[in-house]
Amino acid sequence: KNAGGNTYRFFSSEMKGVFLSKIQLENDLRSALKTEGQFQLYYQPVISSGEEKVMACEALLRWHHPLRGILSPLEFISTAEKTGLIVPLGEWIIRQACTDLLHFDHVLEDELVLSVNISPVQLQQQNFVGRLKMIVDQYHVSPERIQLEITENGLMENTSDSLNTFRQLRELGFGIAIDDFGTGYSSFSYLKQFPVHCLKMDKSFVKDLPREQADRAIVSSTIKLGKDLGLVMVAEGVESKEAYEYLATIGCPFLQGYFFSEPVPLPEFTKFVLERRTE
Ligand code: C2E
Ligand code: CA
Ligand code: CA
Ligand code: CA
Repeated sequence: KNAGGNTYRFFSSEMKGVFLSKIQLENDLRSALKTEGQFQLYYQPVISSGEEKVMACEALLRWHHPLRGILSPLEFISTAEKTGLIVPLGEWIIRQACTDLLHFDHVLEDELVLSVNISPVQLQQQNFVGRLKMIVDQYHVSPERIQLEITENGLMENTSDSLNTFRQLRELGFGIAIDDFGTGYSSFSYLKQFPVHCLKMDKSFVKDLPREQADRAIVSSTIKLGKDLGLVMVAEGVESKEAYEYLATIGCPFLQGYFFSEPVPLPEFTKFVLERRTE
């Protein structure tokens, strides 16, 4: 302890997080927001199951911590939420996503949809919709090109307010996806009420397909339900050829997972898209 703030660099990576106090993490997040280059968006492709074409991509945040290496959002998003730092961080994410989308348009000459994860804390921010619209306008990015991913539990908080926010977002043309579908406290009434247009089936039901009967039952009936409701269905966590083949057989239209690509930095992502096209 006496050695001061940098002590944690001596611990092995499995122990990271345990020894980094919340306060230290908060301080580090604050300084990261003031420094260029510590945050980066990685991209993971979303593939159409028929033609195996890249239709969309999801932006996943990485933090190059000066002492701890690359951190997954799982290690710092909840602190960012509790401290309110998710608001400036979230704005950085949206701006970076717009910049990257313009780059994709230029290099790929194709109109991918770009999915961004949004924290419920951001949604509750005063005038979230107005600020988001202002940013995409600044970059001349049309809202139809951006999909906002929000977890079911995020939908639940403050139902009437969030319902209002979602309606405004849809009216402006933003896509809305329910993330981790099947793991939260959702109910069918939410699907009925909320102007959602995409469901992302949680990877816990997908990654071991087709081995377990329960996973098969859950996934195949959810896809049928989603399709009947006119929703775009995405299975995430596709890790194996067997899972992919099963999902294709039952008619899951969109797939995402390590089987195709891990989340990768922008240059690798564009390379992936271009190489797939010439195959
Ligand atoms: P998520 O939105 O459900 O993102 C999918 C997570 O699963 C990512 O973890 C991704 O790397 C991982 N993944 C992708 N394919 C596979 C697969 O085939 N198998 C398995 N087992 N995992 C796979 P990651 O990047 O560590 O992100 C974790 C979570 O952090 C995300 O879960 C999301 O909730 C949150 N997050 C990520 N980026 C952002 C962001 O920009 N803003 C906010 N608010 N949250 C973010
Ligand atoms: Ca997501
Ligand atoms: Ca998810
Ligand atoms: Ca998640």
